[in-house]
Amino acid sequence: MVKFLSFGSDARRIAEADSVAVIGLGRFGASLARELMASGTEVLGIDSDEDLVQSLNGHLTQVVRADATKLDVLQQLAIDDFDRVVLAIGTDIRASILTASLLLQLKVPVVWAKATDEQHGLILEQLGVHKVIYPDKEMGRRVAHLVRGAAADYLEIDKGYAMVKAAAPTQVQGRTLTDAGVRTEHGVTIAAYRPADGVWRNAEADTVLSAGDIVLVVGPTIRVEAFAQLR
Ligand code: ATP
Repeated sequence: MVKFLSFGSDARRIAEADSVAVIGLGRFGASLARELMASGTEVLGIDSDEDLVQSLNGHLTQVVRADATKLDVLQQLAIDDFDRVVLAIGTDIRASILTASLLLQLKVPVVWAKATDEQHGLILEQLGVHKVIYPDKEMGRRVAHLVRGAAADYLEIDKGYAMVKAAAPTQVQGRTLTDAGVRTEHGVTIAAYRPADGVWRNAEADTVLSAGDIVLVVGPTIRVEAFAQLR
């Protein structure tokens, strides 16, 4: 069992670095925490489940078993020293709301919280959570676009505006992007491309694509999806 007090100074040290605290290390929280670590961010992970904490020990900067719904616990973990906290407790709505309220009371500058449904999300927003995320809904929407189109990857930047990764269509190969009418005819922008050498490059107006190139296309969702489906 982890003693909270012994982690106060460590947590404070982590908070001083470019770091994030992740509360709730279920599938979403653990995957987020690992990804942050992989991209060089220091992570303090918190969960009330001993087995989960043990399984992530050594994979995050610090993992602590603690009940995040307790104000004194959050204070001992120096949560208020973190600039960014992700609250990844979902199913236990009571724990999610209580913890969110404490994080805001402690004046954590940026709180992101996961919601399981619209009602949960609305309460989190009303409390003042800075960004509410709906991983299941967002993943479902993303997969829907991937499953019906030819895109290799899809990211909705805003409603009706997206970025996709797709194979360069034959009809825009062998000419400059301007001559191929990528913007004028297809209404999209090719932001970058990956030729056979596997290195991504920024695309310019005079870039000439070849067979096998992969492109990153930005524009209105309908347009980028249509572009990804060109052969
Ligand atoms: P996922 O889909 O990411 O697995 P979930 O929404 O199904 O998550 P939840 O039950 O919401 O799972 O919890 C996510 C994690 O948060 C669990 O590992 C759980 O142990 C942890 N957790 C729940 N309540 C608290 C709490 N009060 N303090 C700390 N951690 C908690």
